[in-house]
Amino acid sequence: MSEPTYTISADGSAILCRVCRTTSYNPSDVRERYCGKCKMFHTAAQPAPMQFRHMITGQPITPSDWQRALTIGDYYQIDNSVAAVGDEDTFTTYDIPTIYGQIESDEACPPGFFWVKAYSTDCPRGETGSFNICEATRQITKEEFEQARQRKWARP
Ligand SMILES: [Zn+2]
Repeated sequence: MSEPTYTISADGSAILCRVCRTTSYNPSDVRERYCGKCKMFHTAAQPAPMQFRHMITGQPITPSDWQRALTIGDYYQIDNSVAAVGDEDTFTTYDIPTIYGQIESDEACPPGFFWVKAYSTDCPRGETGSFNICEATRQITKEEFEQARQRKWARP
């Protein structure tokens, strides 16, 4: 996955070149994404922002920064809470168990997708599957993951 070659400061007044680590406060450098030291425009190197499409609704979904930062070895959980099936008058709700997972690999995965090993009360021995970073509702620590394992993957 290619990384941007520059960072704009949070207030938008400065540009940090990640190639030479020089920060410029020159407004035209910021506007034009230019590094005076490298004598290079960054714009051409910018990857498209990561975006996905919801499988059911078709809505575009943009991952949060913490989801974008998820990487191999990280732990996460997915809280699906309740799903309803049926119409307004007659519907059945299903309590979907919380899924706890660890990211294992990105082999042959497009950006934002990983191979994971995921566990739940329905699947206590774990299952390898494909995972999109937008599915995670929270990143958790190794301790939280091990505590969930001791609860046999039930919610706290
Ligand atoms: Zn530079």
